[in-house]
Amino acid sequence: MIKFRADLHLHTVLSPCGDLEMSPSQLVEHAHLRGIQIMGITDHNSTKHARLVRDLAAKVNIFTLCGAEVTSKEEAHLLCFMPDDEKLQLLQEFIDENILKIPNNPKYFGEQLVVNESEEIICEEEFLLINAIDKDVNEIGEFVMQNGGFFIPAHVDRSAFSLTSQLGFVPPDLECTAIEISKHSSQEELLAQFPYLSGRSFIQSSDAHYVADIASGFTNFYLKEASFEEMQKAFLKEEGRYCEIPQ
Ligand SMILES: [Zn+2]
Ligand SMILES: [Zn+2]
Repeated sequence: MIKFRADLHLHTVLSPCGDLEMSPSQLVEHAHLRGIQIMGITDHNSTKHARLVRDLAAKVNIFTLCGAEVTSKEEAHLLCFMPDDEKLQLLQEFIDENILKIPNNPKYFGEQLVVNESEEIICEEEFLLINAIDKDVNEIGEFVMQNGGFFIPAHVDRSAFSLTSQLGFVPPDLECTAIEISKHSSQEELLAQFPYLSGRSFIQSSDAHYVADIASGFTNFYLKEASFEEMQKAFLKEEGRYCEIPQ
């Protein structure tokens, strides 16, 4: 198996809280400099930078999972990654149909810019992307997994916008691909709190909104090659593939 360093939770200028320096090209350049070999692109409730990041990343041999960090009705953050462009478009439509249509106030929340490779602004997202969509955790999980995607509740230990902050716990029977632990906690601490999660796959990521934070948290994947199918096997711990949070 080959070891791949993965940061699967990264924001861009499209996220209202994302720094203006976080253009797709800057993000890829800095991820590359820091030895990241697999990236996950997870803007709040939008997939609109994912393909550009993927195409730029491929030029420096970084594999990209395309998706979004979706906010559920309960206000829990959920990383959702889709296996191909067609399914990614379905995820975007699912979000568009269910997001609260509240206009963004850039002065208050920050700008939500879609840019091109040369950092020229193509458009601004009209509706505030950090709002919840009108679907609960289980409905979002079902949608993603039925379409062959990866469904990973984000920073589950955090005191805001997480399963534990919003529901009080990680539901024991929750169907998900893996569980993300924030940089501020560890797998041991989470398992001490919720022993029934033992046996699940866990990831840790940077959740970077600023260039300086890229790769400040990461997960090692052991795969034959960097691909969606191989990562699926790793999450399921099949055929010697697995993922591991570095100690
Ligand atoms: Zn989040
Ligand atoms: Zn995030």
